[in-house]
Formats: sequence, C-alpha cells, structure tokens
Amino acid sequence: MLLKPEDFLPMNIVTELNEWVSMRKKIMNQSIGFIPTMGNLHAGHISLCERSKRDNDITVVSIFVNPTQFNNQNDLKHYPRTLPEDIEKLTHAKVDYLFVPNAEDMYQDNYEIKVTETELSHELEGEHRPGHFNGMLTVVLKLLNLIQAHKAYFGEKDYQQLLLVKKMVLSLFLPTEIMACETIRNEKGLALSSRNSRLNDEQLEMAAHFPALLHSHLTDEEIITQLKNLGFKVDYIVKKWQRRLGAVYLGDVRLIDNIHYI
Ligand code: AMP
Repeated sequence: MLLKPEDFLPMNIVTELNEWVSMRKKIMNQSIGFIPTMGNLHAGHISLCERSKRDNDITVVSIFVNPTQFNNQNDLKHYPRTLPEDIEKLTHAKVDYLFVPNAEDMYQDNYEIKVTETELSHELEGEHRPGHFNGMLTVVLKLLNLIQAHKAYFGEKDYQQLLLVKKMVLSLFLPTEIMACETIRNEKGLALSSRNSRLNDEQLEMAAHFPALLHSHLTDEEIITQLKNLGFKVDYIVKKWQRRLGAVYLGDVRLIDNIHYI
C-alpha cells in the first residue's frame, strides 16, 4: 500500500478549553462527529471512531475520567489511565482531534450545577450506583456544549446511559444527534470494556459465562443462580426495553452487559 503524506499527520491534541473553543471556530463549515470516552481505549471505542469517520468530515474524541460519575472511590482510583497508548490508537484510527480536559476546568462550579433525571436514572445502574447518572449526564452536557458536534456516538453496551443521553438531548433541545453503536465483543463473546484489563486470566475466562448466560433461554432467576454458583456477585439480571440487561462483579471488578432479547 502506498502511504500518502496525510497518513503521517499528527492528531491535534487539545487540553485547554479556550484552545478548543478557538479551534472549533476554524472548523465551522464541516460536519463534526464526537465520541466521549474515559480512555483506556479498545476496539469498542475505535468502532465508534470509525463510524464517525464514515459519517462526518471531522472526528473529535474526548478522554476524561469524570470523577463525578464514580460512586465508588476505589473504582475511580483504579480506573486504567493509558494516555500514551490511547494517543497511538487514535492516531492510527486517523481521528482529527483529541480533547483531554482537566477536572478543574470542567468543574469550575465545584459541581454545584448538575443535571438530574428523576425516573429512569433511579433503576438498575442508578439503583446500584447512586449519583452515577447525575455525574454522567452533567459531564455529557458540558462536553456536548463544548464540542458542538452534529452527531455524537454512544455504545449500546451502556444501554441505560444511551437512553438517558437521548432523553436529555430531547428534553433540553440540544442540537446534537445521538447515534447508537452496537457492542463490540472479544472472540469469547465478552463485551470489550476498560475494566476487563483489571481481570486476571482465570477471571477473564470466567467472565465469558456472563454474556453466554444472558443469551440463554434460562429465566432471569435461573441465570442469577448459575452466575452465583460460578462465583459471580450479581447486582441484577432483568428484561426491559426488549433487552436482557445485567450487572455482575468478578472479584472487585464490575461488569455490565445487555443483549437484544424479545
Ligand atoms: P467509556 O470510555 O467506557 O466511558 O466508553 C465510551 C463510549 O464507548 C461509551 O459510549 C460506551 O458505551 C462505548 N463503549 C464502551 N465499550 C464498548 C464496546 N465494547 N462496544 C461498543 N461501544 C463501547
């Protein structure tokens, strides 16, 4: 394959809010696709970037480990941070801009202004992770306002998050279109997740039982029993929104997943 000069162009990396605002003005007439992430990127994130690259002139990715959406400080402390490797992957994927803001800039108000949803955000993930969705919606609103993208890409892996972001965008008349992207899995069916890197080899093997059981014809209760027998701790397994959704722990690593299910 013949390499072209643009294959070597470095990605624009922006850390300052003001710098982003002036860069954004220079790409006024182009369509912008945006992928918000917390980094430690894997093929799931990259599939969102590829979708955005197909749909838009410019693709922007953000990496921000958002402290306000962690209800568990241990999870925040151990969340994998791999910026150099992430930059390499995004450069390879030919992403145009990487936005890496810091918490002080994102929360100049000390998180005194926040987005609250009062129904959907209280069940499933919301029930087990109090405050998580307030933090998530607040940071997504800030990022959507900063990036001003035409389309923003979210994974179906975080299905309740996707529904809540869509609801916020409709309710607050935000101009960005929310695009749902299918879950990318490893060869054993396990949904790719940044938290998988905290599983040891044995746990990684065991984790594949979780999606396999979600796909089975067992009842939710039977799946819960089987998972417990295998050594998982189970937060929930439920059918809702024509999907079967679940959240489990292996050791102290929490995994979520969902599949289409009628
Ligand atoms: P995160 O970095 O975990 O906050 O994820 C950033 C975005 O990537 C979210 O919209 C996730 O739903 C999406 N995502 C995470 N894992 C996957 C996956 N395995 N397949 C598709 N999208 C994913």
